[in-house]
Amino acid sequence: MKLRDYQQSAVSNIGVAFKTNKRALFVLPTGGGKTTIFSQVAADAVNDGESVLVLAHRRELIDQANERLKRFGLETGLVISGEEMTPDAPVQVASIQTLTRRFEKVGKPDLIIVDEAHRAVADSYARVLEEYPDARVLGLTATPCRLDGKGLKGSFSTIVEGPSIEDLISRGYLMRPIAYSASIPDLTGVKTRAGDYAADQLAEALERSTICGDAVSSYQRITPGRSGIAFCVSVKHAGLTADAFNAAGIQAEVLTGDTPKDERAGILARLRSGETKIVASIETLTEGFDFEGLEVVLLMRPTKSLALYLQMVGRVLRISDGKDEAIVLDLSGNTLRHGLVEEIREWSLDGVKDDQNARATNGDTLKTRLCKMCFGVHKAAPVCPLCGHTHEKDDRIPVAKAGELRRIKAEELEAAKRALSDRKKQEERECRSLEDFVKLGKSRGYKFASGWAAKRWELRQSRVRATSYSGWPK
Ligand SMILES: [Zn+2]
Repeated sequence: MKLRDYQQSAVSNIGVAFKTNKRALFVLPTGGGKTTIFSQVAADAVNDGESVLVLAHRRELIDQANERLKRFGLETGLVISGEEMTPDAPVQVASIQTLTRRFEKVGKPDLIIVDEAHRAVADSYARVLEEYPDARVLGLTATPCRLDGKGLKGSFSTIVEGPSIEDLISRGYLMRPIAYSASIPDLTGVKTRAGDYAADQLAEALERSTICGDAVSSYQRITPGRSGIAFCVSVKHAGLTADAFNAAGIQAEVLTGDTPKDERAGILARLRSGETKIVASIETLTEGFDFEGLEVVLLMRPTKSLALYLQMVGRVLRISDGKDEAIVLDLSGNTLRHGLVEEIREWSLDGVKDDQNARATNGDTLKTRLCKMCFGVHKAAPVCPLCGHTHEKDDRIPVAKAGELRRIKAEELEAAKRALSDRKKQEERECRSLEDFVKLGKSRGYKFASGWAAKRWELRQSRVRATSYSGWPK
């Protein structure tokens, strides 16, 4: 298997971390190729005569890891209920639940690899790590914090960071998502428990709200016919969402943790083929679900958890043939709450800083801006990059109605851009002094307003001179 350059450096950085640490946490965005990286780390360990234990908590992740390890030429054994064991294989891929019942049958590993390591604080993981106190532990995650925002300091002693989402987007390994935000549901009275909205109260609030209907109309306006996943808060909420789509003639299905395996495969196959347009799900799909062609995520579950938000949006970022856009239809306020996914975040084993996990619920944050023309959410800038709308100064967040949510057509966009450029030229023509230019530069939010103003002023002076020459007789 050929590794990408950053994957190769990840493998060597992990090796360096292990020289001074027993337990390292490696951070890489969804779609960056975690499985490839840990397979290479496992292959290197086996080459050195070591035994490796790979842990995951769900069947799909176990099968996925097993397949990849085999492609690296590794001999693997499975520790999962209903499967025969091959204890002699140097790499054991285990379900965490099954392993805790079969410790005596599994040899002591030299290296333990924990996939989706933000779960490593759970009791079952703690038991495994206690059982093998001498093993090196490599945890991998896209979100190095627990869903409640707390850190992983108790489980790991150092953090190794791979490229950020922005790095992977700008290098063409992931797609830059376009986010639209509308109709933030009223969450008055919903309490916070363990760092996130109390799920039962949230479910009640959403079931009473118009969110399902809003999701359907947003989908019809912005992303008609595209394949999407709708993330909901409860099984009932997912059912209501699928009903709303089906009632509008858009084929939708529900997929939850209780969906039997073969049925699950059928649903995913229909989503891939395009027969089913929307799969309404709850948290079960946030990890390890690989459908690269997915075009839309509908965020219908407001969350205060940055980790959960990043995992949900992460589903739509992968590159795929024939896929031209990755769209986030946010009906939950999550984009405004947490910022755009590509925002650079500082990770630490202490967890998420308060300002990252609890932002303004439906207001502008410093880093993002909601456009009241197209309801796109973008990196803070005086002009919306999606539609060319110039924000007024003190533009507060409007509560957008899904009915107003719309995609701007190319011609409208061109016209808006032209109008914008005309307006800018006019503003500049009206400047009568260097100070006027500085003021204008500042009002446009330019970082280097005085430098820009000096250049414009110099250009103006030279033009004035040129004009006076043109007054000579022809
Ligand atoms: Zn806009």
